[in-house]
Amino acid sequence: MQILQDLDLDELQNLMIEFGEKPYRAKQILSNINLGKPISAYSNISAELKQKLLARFEDFPLKIHTEQKSRDGTRKFAYSLSDGNIIEGVLLEYKYGHTLCVSTQVGCRMGCKFCASTLNGLVRNLTAGEILSQVLLVNSMLGGKAGKERKITNIVLMGSGEPMDNYDNVVKFLRLVASPNGLNVSPRNISVSTCGIVPNIEKLAHEGLPIILTISLHAPFDELRKSIMPIANRYSIREIISAAKFYFNEVGRRVVFEYALIKDVNDSYDCAKQLALILRGFPNHVNLIPLNEVKERELKTVNRKNAEKFAEWLTHLGVSVTIRRTMADDIDGACGQLRNKIVA
Ligand code: SAH
Repeated sequence: MQILQDLDLDELQNLMIEFGEKPYRAKQILSNINLGKPISAYSNISAELKQKLLARFEDFPLKIHTEQKSRDGTRKFAYSLSDGNIIEGVLLEYKYGHTLCVSTQVGCRMGCKFCASTLNGLVRNLTAGEILSQVLLVNSMLGGKAGKERKITNIVLMGSGEPMDNYDNVVKFLRLVASPNGLNVSPRNISVSTCGIVPNIEKLAHEGLPIILTISLHAPFDELRKSIMPIANRYSIREIISAAKFYFNEVGRRVVFEYALIKDVNDSYDCAKQLALILRGFPNHVNLIPLNEVKERELKTVNRKNAEKFAEWLTHLGVSVTIRRTMADDIDGACGQLRNKIVA
């Protein structure tokens, strides 16, 4: 079965022509898609057209399998896809709105030593419509519609999967969700996080989408980075920094670097000093995340005091830095933890 949410307005219009319908029906279908409805609940199309759609497309590409709510209000979802695969999402509530963290792949093949999403490798890529449907579903659950009546204000591509390893589907998703015909989420409110697939970072800079680029650096020395992130064998830190500068020059947005603090691995003063050195000379920001311990992994997290010390070192060295509040650590908050519990 195909996924209706994969289609943009042009493609829906072509579909209507193929079905022998008037092209303006495409907009009616899109308004239903934007409301996060399953095809069977579309109200403004004929029963005949509904049957034609249901013969080719999934009624809706995913549903909530499990939900956990954290003490801090964060909600974590496991969704089941039509083929039975499980992916995850996290909903964060802020004063100004809601941020939804979406997955881009089932599993991941990047192999980062601290991450739960990659423990069983990559199962498959998500289509653009499967990524979009995570947003559509949660937005409608919150009572949101499209445009100004949206409840999801911000999106981060930080769920399971490596977005730059599923490039075409991710870029199509970004265009669909940012489209004035779609939910109309400003690209300025969307962050794409990558472990540093350099050629695709450069490609992304040319898509005309002013999204926030977030790079998972986690170590300022190549050898150290290789020991926790296999992708470091492909791309050096020098190449990553040069891609980040290129992104800033093309898109005009400062690049955010993620740095998960791991006890006795990357939390030394030497690391802080080297990090400040490589980030010198272009606009950027460092997000420190005390490691979310994953039970299948040996790596240990740092305590609050050591995280603050590392942040202070960076501040003194002239780096713009924040410590990300650890959220949802009581509900399998770390990437892939909830899915693993269900799949295991
Ligand atoms: N594949 C993308 C998105 C991954 S998830 C990427 O690598 O950026 C978003 C962030 O969470 C990444 O920076 C990732 O490295 C980090 N992360 C994964 N597991 C973690 C853990 N156990 N503790 C803290 N951060 C983690």
